[in-house]
Amino acid sequence: MIDKVIAHINANKGANVERLMELLRIPSISTDPERKDDIRRAAEWIRRLLTECGIKSEIVETPGHPCVLADTGSAGGGGPTVLIYGHYDVQPTGDESLWDSPAFEPTIRNGLIYARGAADDKGQVLAHVLAAESWMKVAKGLPIRVKFLIEGEEEVASRNLEKVIRDHRDRLACDYVALSDTPKFDETTPGITYGTKGLVYKEIIITGPKQNLHSGSFGGTLANPGNAAATIIASLRDADNRVTIPGFYDKVRELTAVERAKLSELPFDEDGYLAAMGAPTLTGEKGYSTLERRWVRPTLDVNGVFGGFTGEGAATVIPAKVSAKVSMRIVPDQDPDQISTAFDKAVRAACPDGVRLEIIDHGGCAAYVAAMDSPGMTAAADAMEAGFGKRPFFIREGGTLPILPLYKEVLGADSLMMGFCVPDCNAHGPNEFLAVSDFLGGTKTAAHFVHRLAQLT
Ligand SMILES: [Zn+2]
Repeated sequence: MIDKVIAHINANKGANVERLMELLRIPSISTDPERKDDIRRAAEWIRRLLTECGIKSEIVETPGHPCVLADTGSAGGGGPTVLIYGHYDVQPTGDESLWDSPAFEPTIRNGLIYARGAADDKGQVLAHVLAAESWMKVAKGLPIRVKFLIEGEEEVASRNLEKVIRDHRDRLACDYVALSDTPKFDETTPGITYGTKGLVYKEIIITGPKQNLHSGSFGGTLANPGNAAATIIASLRDADNRVTIPGFYDKVRELTAVERAKLSELPFDEDGYLAAMGAPTLTGEKGYSTLERRWVRPTLDVNGVFGGFTGEGAATVIPAKVSAKVSMRIVPDQDPDQISTAFDKAVRAACPDGVRLEIIDHGGCAAYVAAMDSPGMTAAADAMEAGFGKRPFFIREGGTLPILPLYKEVLGADSLMMGFCVPDCNAHGPNEFLAVSDFLGGTKTAAHFVHRLAQLT
């Protein structure tokens, strides 16, 4: 049957691209209150597509933008149930003059579909929907039970999704969550992202005199909040680029020998990476490779330091107040609350006398890593190989996806992240694109994926 489904997908390639273009024409920008109707139109568009091919689906309201929920129902075979997660909302266009064609007038140039949302995430999530549609048309059903949760607030921090997942936990029950909102390894090699970093975000506020003071008249007689901030920040990392906060590494899960070997085998172009960053040289925690530092080692970074005189030229002041924003990207099994508390303690201990210190907590989120050897992960890898003609690499991601630990906690399911777009697809920037061939490869992968999962029984 899978051959017939793939044949159907191939035969409908042009029509499916047309449908993606139709969805891309809806400017469903979730940050823009003026686009509320467009957001709903996009949700309705997806719901209709699912309903028309015979998959029960509905719009679930939230205090913000709605979600589309769908369920194929039991397939009877007793195979695993998979929940496909994605989002139909998109980022704003940004400076429209930087786009070679209008963001919401999808245009194909050299086999690439240019439009806001082409890769993130309309094209990728639609691949799953269209694969299900092909199964429905060809086989009158899917070989396993598939559910869909497609939200409209991913680009605004999924602010109502947690409640939707908790409220509908029984309806969403599944063995695996599958999502395509991450990239391939590179242009020619598909990738499965199996881990993401978490985040702890803090702000340090240091105050001294009641107002900025003349550094000549008063300097040397009282503590300078700028100097104090520098002292504190410098104390947080050592010469080997390791974080010095006591207990910071206690729960860090070290790489297994197998994982380390797999990572080192990836054809990562270090020179190309450096050139793309435009920095003088690469550096980081001693004893780890660039990819390990990016994907599996925790980091601490100053995001901004501000206060005192920052204008042009020279003004000699002792600032009354200096602040620093500091974020830590954490990894399994570091606990965000514990890291947050340890940070506060270390900062207080490092703070010099003579200033006042306030620490603000901007929230946190745990890291996530899925088992690499689960049957679902194998099915995903086999499906990607079938869909793209090449075995995927297993990769990790330095960014944070709070939804993943939430799925694990509420549904008890691991997330399988199959990336269909290229890494430099300009998501969130001008000229975002998705290759027609990747859209097709993604649709075939999604069709193979449910087939492989059905074979697990
Ligand atoms: Zn996305």
